[in-house]
Amino acid sequence: MRFIPCNLCGADECRELYPSTLSPNGRGKGGSAFLCTSPDYGQHYRVVQCLRCGYVYANPRGDPAEVMQAYESVEDPLYLRERAGRERTFRKHLKPLHRVAGEPNGRKLLDVGAYIGVFVEVARAAGWDAEGIEPSGWAVGEAVRAGLPVRRGTLSSVGFPSESFDVITLWDVIEHFDDPRAELDHVFRLLKPGGVVVIHTIDMGSLTAKLMGARWPFLMEMHIAFFSRATLRAMLERVGFQYVGDHTEGRYLRLGYLAGRVSAAFGSWVGRPLERAIAALKMGEWMAPVNTLDLFTAYGRKAARGDQ
Ligand SMILES: [Zn+2]
Repeated sequence: MRFIPCNLCGADECRELYPSTLSPNGRGKGGSAFLCTSPDYGQHYRVVQCLRCGYVYANPRGDPAEVMQAYESVEDPLYLRERAGRERTFRKHLKPLHRVAGEPNGRKLLDVGAYIGVFVEVARAAGWDAEGIEPSGWAVGEAVRAGLPVRRGTLSSVGFPSESFDVITLWDVIEHFDDPRAELDHVFRLLKPGGVVVIHTIDMGSLTAKLMGARWPFLMEMHIAFFSRATLRAMLERVGFQYVGDHTEGRYLRLGYLAGRVSAAFGSWVGRPLERAIAALKMGEWMAPVNTLDLFTAYGRKAARGDQ
């Protein structure tokens, strides 16, 4: 376990928000903790808040090399079943993205943590020249099998030339980064002048997070960076971006999946009857729009040449 300073301001002083629920020398329930559809709710590192700037993060926590190894070896067949819901969610994400970044017109977009390539596919269909990078070999294999340009690696390992992209997207990725600031430095370098970064993440400052406290389902071992709109804005500005704005975003989830998550978060006595009812009504594949107000999308712009 390592103790780490604040990634936003560098301070060492922090206060505990929630104590660790992991066993002292190891993981909670084991292997599934790093799946995209991980059921390991309630298993998390100690969560602290920086006393100087208010940034919230997991501290202390495990070795980043081990974490990366876990992501590289992730296999998550359940995610394939949720593909339709993700597709619909991503199509919805594109509208505000186009308002900020302009129409695609074959411009270049990079999706970081592209997983099986669902957003890359949606963006290409909308007219972007989109590609992705992703550490999981299994996920890259699925993307490539679907004919999508997703490369295995991370921002630091894949050597893109500077100023390669018009838009870089990070959907549900930044909360997993050991060093978000270093990753955003890469993003800044890879964007063309005038380029836009789009970050979708969990909102530590949301009313939902505050009301649920230690029971907020996004407190899980694989989440280590808990931004609010204010701290993400501060981080983007520190890296050099102009802050464009942010908004909350709902998702489309399969009812069958939703019931499973309810069981995982609140216990099977709540979720199981729901799962049974949905199965009996054969509604498991239905899509439900869900907005719990604790996810948001933020936009930053790299100054165009000649701008101040
Ligand atoms: Zn700080």
